[in-house]
Amino acid sequence: MRFAFVSGDPALDLTATVLSRRADPVDTLTTPADLEQWVAECAELPDHVTAGATDLASALALREALYRLALDRLRSRPFHSGSLAIVNDTAAGPVPTLRLSDDGLRASGDFRAVLTRLARRGITVLADRGACLKECGRPDCTRLYLDRSRGSRRTWCGMDECGNRVKAAAYRARRRARATAAD
Ligand SMILES: [Zn+2]
Repeated sequence: MRFAFVSGDPALDLTATVLSRRADPVDTLTTPADLEQWVAECAELPDHVTAGATDLASALALREALYRLALDRLRSRPFHSGSLAIVNDTAAGPVPTLRLSDDGLRASGDFRAVLTRLARRGITVLADRGACLKECGRPDCTRLYLDRSRGSRRTWCGMDECGNRVKAAAYRARRRARATAAD
């Protein structure tokens, strides 16, 4: 797996394909092939979807609109109207076909169906006033996620991604402090 899916929702996972948004943004979706790979790795989306340059542009527009709306939610301010229009228009497109079997759920559809699904998931999350939307506690990370833990005490987007890194950095800092004190 090249991409992380730790936000608790595919629409939020999409927004997290730009890493370190504040300090030093890195876009991990720069080619249609990147996008195809992301879709293939996302459990809820159709397999074997092909994407072109126009699809990439649509996906990035949806991603930034979802991110802007999620920030609006996080900061308790009204939704940005241009971003609302992008997400709502995308959500009105064709949806993937879902089939149930003993192997579980299988989604199929083309790239437009992928975007529709992502927009609809985003709407569901952002409309849910009870959803505990958070930004990762590691300042450089900036990943948004849903905290579904008991008591909503989760601090990091994921232990592998950030929790362990923060703990390791704190441990190194403590060791340095002890070494300095012993000098
Ligand atoms: Zn994080």
